[in-house]
Amino acid sequence: MARLQSKYPTETEYLQAVQEVLESIEDEYNRHPEFETAKIVERLVEPDRIFTFRVTWVDDNGEVQTNLGYRVQFNSAIGPYKGGLRFHSSVTPSMLKFLGFEQTFKNALTSLPMGGAKGGSDFSPRGKSDAEIMRFCQAFMLELWRCIGPDQDIPAGDVGVGGREIGYLNGMYQKLSREYHTGVLTGKGETWGGSVLRPEATGFGALYFAQHVLGRVGQTLEGKRICVSGFGNVAWGAVKKANQLGAKVVAISGPDGVCSIPDGITGEMNEYMLEMRSSNRDRVEDMAVKFPDRATFIPGKKSWSIPCDIALPCAFQNELDEEDAKTLKANGCWCCCEVSNMGCRPEAIHFFQNNGVIFAPGKAVNAGGVATSGLEMTQNAAHISWSGAEVDSKLHWIMQNIHEQCVKFGLRPDGTVDYLKGANVAGFMKVATAMLEQGVI
Ligand code: GLU
Repeated sequence: MARLQSKYPTETEYLQAVQEVLESIEDEYNRHPEFETAKIVERLVEPDRIFTFRVTWVDDNGEVQTNLGYRVQFNSAIGPYKGGLRFHSSVTPSMLKFLGFEQTFKNALTSLPMGGAKGGSDFSPRGKSDAEIMRFCQAFMLELWRCIGPDQDIPAGDVGVGGREIGYLNGMYQKLSREYHTGVLTGKGETWGGSVLRPEATGFGALYFAQHVLGRVGQTLEGKRICVSGFGNVAWGAVKKANQLGAKVVAISGPDGVCSIPDGITGEMNEYMLEMRSSNRDRVEDMAVKFPDRATFIPGKKSWSIPCDIALPCAFQNELDEEDAKTLKANGCWCCCEVSNMGCRPEAIHFFQNNGVIFAPGKAVNAGGVATSGLEMTQNAAHISWSGAEVDSKLHWIMQNIHEQCVKFGLRPDGTVDYLKGANVAGFMKVATAMLEQGVI
């Protein structure tokens, strides 16, 4: 860590992600001198390669705009590079390195053959027209297409990149490469190679994981109050499954504040989240304007200020800090399943773990998204499409399996589970073993 800190002093998110994993795996690592001999950790913390490129496009006013684009190919020990693209004003190489690092272990946990990658741009979709989004995606693909391929690197969505953007990206990829297969991006539309349930998969998988976490302590989701943060694709899927399983979602949030929904979000409100996302306004207040009888907008506040049983961060890294953790606990919250990547600050995780709040990390909880991308790749490669029931049952099995791996490596002497340690050790062991067996390359 000291070496990385002096080498990359400004890359705070990346250092945070690496530190979390190294702390968790220390005991297990020390039981394997062969890992030390092969310098597995030193190799694993550095991405295989990073592509950086300029993306120039013309906005609706005819003005030329320039952004930066990246693809971080982190690790290919267990399969081709796989991971999403993030379009957000705050995107930096550090952010994408942390996300690519996390993705490597997450993908290993899915038990599917996928390596880790992440990419994106500092382009902000906020306030952009649909035509601007299209032109940006096309300009972005003008560079990216040379770095990717169905057996090399398969990007997908992440914050700011959903089905619409994947469509524009895929159209341009085909135009440039003159390859008309369906295998280079996941999260595609259902009529052109996309898997049924991929849009729902991250949120659905998170709730399946939460069911197992609760089941282990003799609880169910029925009647539980849940606070969700964000209102994007992940939050949408989580809310939908929470409602199906009889829980009550009492808060959603955005950069502008939180909507308190004391009687629980309805199916109609849940679907309205899709319109809020595609409007590019990035404001959760729109929910309270549309449904004033059910939702109250509180500006500047987070979802963690609303009393609940279960917290589901579904928005952005470091969105839940120690103060938020204390507020949640004081208001009765006893379980936090992180759905966003690294949604909780390390101090918040320590507070949860030291104060009897069950905590499960994003790389386990949200792995259903990329797992279903893996299922999409399988369907594309075989030129078939599975039914919703087939995909859902595979997703169920994958989430159950990830939960079992966490229990196996994270069981404490008192019978409780350290999900953070369990997920990190299980993911690390797979990647490290794959690297070891393939030699020094
Ligand atoms: N961006 C998602 C993640 O963080 C999904 C990636 C994918 O489907 O490749 O796992």
